[in-house]
Amino acid sequence: MTPVELERRRVQVSGVVQGVGFRPFVYTLATRNRLVGFVRNDGATVVAEVEGHREALERFATALVRDAPPTARVADVSITALAASGGHGFAILPSTAAGADTAVLIGADVAICQDCLRELRDPRNRRYRHPFITCAQCGPRFTIARAAPYDRATTTMAGFAMCEQCRREYDDPSDRRFHAETISCSACGPRLSMPLDDAIAVLQGGGILAVKGIGGYHLACDATSEAAVERLRARKERERKPLAVMTLDPDSVAICTPAEQELLASAAAPIVLLDARPGAPIARSVTSAGPSLGLMTPYTPLHHLLLDGAERPLVMTSGNRREEPIAIDDDDARRRLGSIADAFLGHDRPIHRRCEDSVVRAGFPIRRSRGYAPSWLTLPHPARRPLVAVGASMKATFCVAHDERAWLSPHLGDLDTEPAARAFAADLALHLAMLAVEPELIACDLHPDYASTRWAHEQDAEIVTVQHHHAHAAACLAEHGLGGPALALVFDGTGYGPDGTLWGGELLRCDLTGFERLAHLEPVQLPGGESAIREPWRVAASYLERAGRPVPFERWGEVRQSLRVNAPRSSGMGRLFDAVAALLGVCERVSYEGQAAVELDWLAGTTHAEPYACSVEDGVIAGADLVRAAFDDLDAGRPRAEIAAAFHEGVAAVAVRVCELAEQPRLVVLSGGSFQNLRLLASVASQLRDRGFRVLTHCKVPANDGAISFGQAAVAAARDAA
Ligand code: ZN
Ligand code: ZN
Ligand code: FE
Repeated sequence: MTPVELERRRVQVSGVVQGVGFRPFVYTLATRNRLVGFVRNDGATVVAEVEGHREALERFATALVRDAPPTARVADVSITALAASGGHGFAILPSTAAGADTAVLIGADVAICQDCLRELRDPRNRRYRHPFITCAQCGPRFTIARAAPYDRATTTMAGFAMCEQCRREYDDPSDRRFHAETISCSACGPRLSMPLDDAIAVLQGGGILAVKGIGGYHLACDATSEAAVERLRARKERERKPLAVMTLDPDSVAICTPAEQELLASAAAPIVLLDARPGAPIARSVTSAGPSLGLMTPYTPLHHLLLDGAERPLVMTSGNRREEPIAIDDDDARRRLGSIADAFLGHDRPIHRRCEDSVVRAGFPIRRSRGYAPSWLTLPHPARRPLVAVGASMKATFCVAHDERAWLSPHLGDLDTEPAARAFAADLALHLAMLAVEPELIACDLHPDYASTRWAHEQDAEIVTVQHHHAHAAACLAEHGLGGPALALVFDGTGYGPDGTLWGGELLRCDLTGFERLAHLEPVQLPGGESAIREPWRVAASYLERAGRPVPFERWGEVRQSLRVNAPRSSGMGRLFDAVAALLGVCERVSYEGQAAVELDWLAGTTHAEPYACSVEDGVIAGADLVRAAFDDLDAGRPRAEIAAAFHEGVAAVAVRVCELAEQPRLVVLSGGSFQNLRLLASVASQLRDRGFRVLTHCKVPANDGAISFGQAAVAAARDAA
């Protein structure tokens, strides 16, 4: 061997490469290929210099991408040739700080891995029952990272000095905690604020325990105890919305497919909505009205210790009131949750960023949050200038975009409260800092009264307004990498139309830059405005008047005059579902958004029925036809499940018909919260496909308003490029 054969390369890897065990991976790869050199975090990237024989360098380069750690996401690898300089061994060098203008992509939080779980339960292991056990492959990332580069010193673990033993493991290339920045043990790691046994006793005694998790506080209680769950609902002012349950054995309480089991056990560990098993040992009041159960598996060591100790499934619901953002700060949690929780199981590792649990149903995302954020989505038209899209009002998210990448924030809850508005501004500032972006464009909804719109107008940047349902359609197009043109069926509650009325039952023809409205539900009055959304009987009354049928005021205990007061007009599909749900007595008042549509879907189930007829004239869909048919059938004593089914099929049939009338293009996107109704979605999609349309549904971002900011970003980028 002569020295001439040796070559040296500089390899720079960008993407989500910090906090994912990338440097140890490079170390192992280099030493296995007998390469000398070094690796280090360099600003936002990982940089290695490797020297050795050409074949070994090539093997190294191939494996670098192919075998990268599962939670890494390599965006780009650039390799430059250097002069060979010799040397011995391979080293992990200290990180080079990132400039303030460098974006650093932190990985998503990762559920505890099997190796750590084994150690947690092994009495001979020195981390036996250590509630903060992690390794290079698992544990919190996004929620604890303060700055770049990702090093212990820049995370909220900075305050915990490693003990000698932890330090040895951290420095040992053969150890699986080699350079694991979150490494700790019972001697040197964070501490719980109360003895674990006391916390378990609170749960076993039917009490409510506030538990500090990864991206915020949860409220926990015994999911098998009717009294405990009722108490939690009453204190949290959450009447009907199903509560999430954490269990070690999802299969024992719900029916899940292999794909759903895999999802439950994945590194993201989302809440998966499933059908409860009949007779499952879960308190009736967890689901309250329907068959659907939101399940997740324990994803932190602390969760495992709680479940092992409590020996029963636990309700684990967001630590908030109603739809406020989840509490992350200890003092804030005590203030806001003090009247709900009987005890607080906290700890002294701060949470730096809020990140609620993600929710998935039947493979469709309902909330894209912990485990998925902050991973980026790709825009079909790159954002020429950095931009922020601020979303809508409910299920709020924001989206930061630059070049072809769009970062959709975790779920923030509903924006109409003071704490929510503060959380929005604070979380956005953190994101902008992480991505080193100063927005030159801000995209917002047309609605002048959304807190997000007001915030946008207070900033010193160019404003791009995007109509709500155009944003829905754009989100669906963009997540599939398309720019249109397409037809878009957008069915949701309500969104502001350019004509000042509330839209929401729309057929658009659009691309990313613009749209035309081809058809829509005939608007009806929403008596009482906002209160019509909480009290669907009001919308039912309005629809019955339109349908020429008597309004059963006596049943709803109200007076006729109230229909005329403060009654904005709306073409929202969600409102039509509300009306029929109220008419059938499924729910006359709602306690969470979309409840009426969800419960109507449950009632219809898989019952077969021919669709109700619904006329379309000049692009106006007469929704009142469906309400009239339902009223008459109810009067004639037809079973309610059949009426619900005929209504669902009637909506699907008319949706398909307006697409046929539009003819072109042959691509249809389906978006809007009403398409979380799986019966409606399946029926519309299959009928359109039967007629030769290509149909796209949401699979990366939700159909609901959680994706509005992403859609706005796609539109703003496309318009800016035009
Ligand atoms: Zn681990
Ligand atoms: Zn230690
Ligand atoms: Fe919407």
